[in-house]
Amino acid sequence: MPHLGTLIGSVLSADVVARYYRLKGEEVLYVTGSDEHGTPIEVEAVRRNVPPKQLTDENHAKVAELFDKWAIQFDNYTRTESPTHKEFVRKHLMQIYENGYIFTRETEMTYCENCQRFLPDRFVEGKCPYCGHEGARGDQCDACGRLLEPTKLIDPYCVICGNKPTIKKTKHWYFDLPKFSDKLLRYIEENKQLPDNARNFSLNLIREGLKPRALTRDTSWGIPAPFPGAEGKTIYVWVEAVLGYVSATIEYFRKHGDEEGWKSYWFDKNAKTLYFIGKDNIPFHTIILPALLLATHKGYNLPWNVSTTEFLQFREEAFSKSRRIGIWIDEALELFPADYWRYYLLATRPETKDTNFTWRNFIEKVNADLNDSFGNFVHRALTFVNRNFEDRVPKPALENSDEEILEKTREKIRQIDNLMEKCKIQAAVNTVMDISRLGNRFLNEREPWNQIKTDVQKAANTTYAAVQMVKALAVVTAPFMPYTAEKIWKLLNLPGSVHKQKWEEAEKPLPPGHKINEAKPLFSKITLNEEELEAKLEEIRRRKERNTQ
Ligand SMILES: [Zn+2]
Ligand SMILES: [Zn+2]
Repeated sequence: MPHLGTLIGSVLSADVVARYYRLKGEEVLYVTGSDEHGTPIEVEAVRRNVPPKQLTDENHAKVAELFDKWAIQFDNYTRTESPTHKEFVRKHLMQIYENGYIFTRETEMTYCENCQRFLPDRFVEGKCPYCGHEGARGDQCDACGRLLEPTKLIDPYCVICGNKPTIKKTKHWYFDLPKFSDKLLRYIEENKQLPDNARNFSLNLIREGLKPRALTRDTSWGIPAPFPGAEGKTIYVWVEAVLGYVSATIEYFRKHGDEEGWKSYWFDKNAKTLYFIGKDNIPFHTIILPALLLATHKGYNLPWNVSTTEFLQFREEAFSKSRRIGIWIDEALELFPADYWRYYLLATRPETKDTNFTWRNFIEKVNADLNDSFGNFVHRALTFVNRNFEDRVPKPALENSDEEILEKTREKIRQIDNLMEKCKIQAAVNTVMDISRLGNRFLNEREPWNQIKTDVQKAANTTYAAVQMVKALAVVTAPFMPYTAEKIWKLLNLPGSVHKQKWEEAEKPLPPGHKINEAKPLFSKITLNEEELEAKLEEIRRRKERNTQ
């Protein structure tokens, strides 16, 4: 189950950008999937004494339903247990094998004599040899982000039984990553879209010297390794998971009866692939995936942008399932509607540094930004049309100062556009909020409720301009708060769905005489304080635990 930090780093950011490009009229394919293999699930299955597939079946269905409630609009949300994925991974790796980039090596691996199993990746934990972090996992350290080898951990222990592991010899298949160092270096240096955090981290890794990466594991849960002599081994989860972007595209087109369609996204040089990840996943997307694609010699498109977020912390601490620190995506929706959370997470998206969730900050964002600024402006503007112009957009005789506010609004729309092209999502959603702030200031200065008593035409001009700003807001809000945008679209009595419009629609004025619906508030203020919200969250958790027992 993803928590809010995972959501903003991955599918939520990707959803906003996909929605934006759809409005821009681009052909967009948004694919992702549950990452079902790997030792975390196997560890959990061993602990609960159930088959791993049972866990992932339950989880996939539950998460897919929740993503839908969050309005995450995938074209294909698949899973790494899908037959298309498994077949593609095996074929892809055999091509690389035949191209001579895979070799075998005798190696030493942590082994638990008590459990009688090898302890790769998350089956073993210990102290990070680089930064000293306690509880570093066999494959990666959460604190410093470095990739690790289980045998390098200091004071390792088996996560199932707690025993100190022994070291045992085993044979594994390795990907010759160093052969791609020069190409990867050039790719990263020439890729201008990459954000600084992804670029700097990747360049450091390459300059420190890349090492061959084991492709196989001595585990039973995963995709069987396709190499001759590798019977009984499975593919390392991260290698196959990143190939899932390709297989999910293949699966999407296959479902639509088109076996070749995926190639236009992966080989046509006009196509661009964008990835949305948290910073702990950088090496898999800027090093391992590009190398796996290069190794086929087929001319795959390499990642065009890897939009990488820092971490969202929860009251200065990292999200932690075992310590119950954080908020999970199911719990969040029991407290507030999806758009409240989407807005909060996007407006505080951790783009250049770790950010910190507090209830105080959340309450302030919802109350001040959504309710008092955005919601209030839309409501005032539309109510004024309802009450004073019989629900119809009044006929204006625009003066310079009216033109000015409309021009300022158009400037904001263009700014949002520019920011989204660069995946500066946080700045973009804050610029959306600027439009409502402009609108409130405009209404306060003009006082149409007084104008209407003295100069009806002036009141009509003010109202006309304000309604056009509301319409612009409906369109530019669509990627960020899809439910709210659709509500405004309906209040404006416009046909179809706002999500089927084009971005240019934001600048197209509603004609005078157009009849709108009766205004209704878009948001409501949070009246509970921090302690009360925390207590409510606790109650939801207790209920959840009772239900799973
Ligand atoms: Zn570390
Ligand atoms: Zn053990």
